Amino acid sequence: MNPVIQRASSLVFDSVQHKKKATAGRASGELYYGRRGTLTHFSLQQAMVELEGGAGCALYPCGTAAVSNAILSFVSAGDHILVTGSAYEPTQDFCRHILGKMNITTTWFDPLIGADIGDLIQDNTRVVMLESPGSITMEVQDIPAIVRAVRAKNPDIVIMLDNTWAAGILLKALDLGVDISLQAGTKYLIGHSDAMIGTAVANARCWDQLREQSYLMGQMVDADTAYMAERGLRTLGIRLKQHPASAIPVSSCSIG
Ligand SMILES: *Cc1c(COP(=O)(O)O)cnc(C)c1O
Repeated sequence: MNPVIQRASSLVFDSVQHKKKATAGRASGELYYGRRGTLTHFSLQQAMVELEGGAGCALYPCGTAAVSNAILSFVSAGDHILVTGSAYEPTQDFCRHILGKMNITTTWFDPLIGADIGDLIQDNTRVVMLESPGSITMEVQDIPAIVRAVRAKNPDIVIMLDNTWAAGILLKALDLGVDISLQAGTKYLIGHSDAMIGTAVANARCWDQLREQSYLMGQMVDADTAYMAERGLRTLGIRLKQHPASAIPVSSCSIG
């Protein structure tokens, strides 16, 4: 079943009572104002939570916005974060050029670091950013070992993972103890190179802060794009099965 495409900014309420109810429930699925989403967005958000687990899904206009706003939602001036050296290049540039302006320092770590990540945690470390497989070089990280080592040092640190390559199907990040699973839905979710979207599925511990801080930074996507992402989701599983089925014969052709 496809969701309705509901485009809206301001809404008209039948009474002051209805408006008050909408205000009270605006963070939990009551229609309130376009920036909080419409039925089209709610339907996609619910589908993403079904796919990846967690308490809620924030939507962004592209994957880069999902990564940058998720990190910004959990850091303050003077903090420190740990980011995999295999992170997508704009993620690295965001850390250098935007977080750097706020005196937030980044330590890059070897994607194959495993449990040794514990040695890199400082008193002011707030976020650990993973990406598995990593961009271009495709290292697969030992997520359970990393999560255990980070939690042992400081359970309050927020662990995020850019899950674009595995698309929330081949890697269930939240099941492995990651707090927030990010996707450039521009790639596999949308699936047809004709729209851009970013998603961030958060567990119960991080959802309220991620949702409200992203909202304050004006993060939302239009209803048509949300619709296209949900339509892409319906064929995501079957497309991801076909990718290796096609890629392996092509790559063996070119080798030999
Ligand atoms: C493409 C990509 C992004 C950024 O997504 P945009 O929608 O292009 O902003 C982030 N992470 C990974 C791994 C990507 O491949």
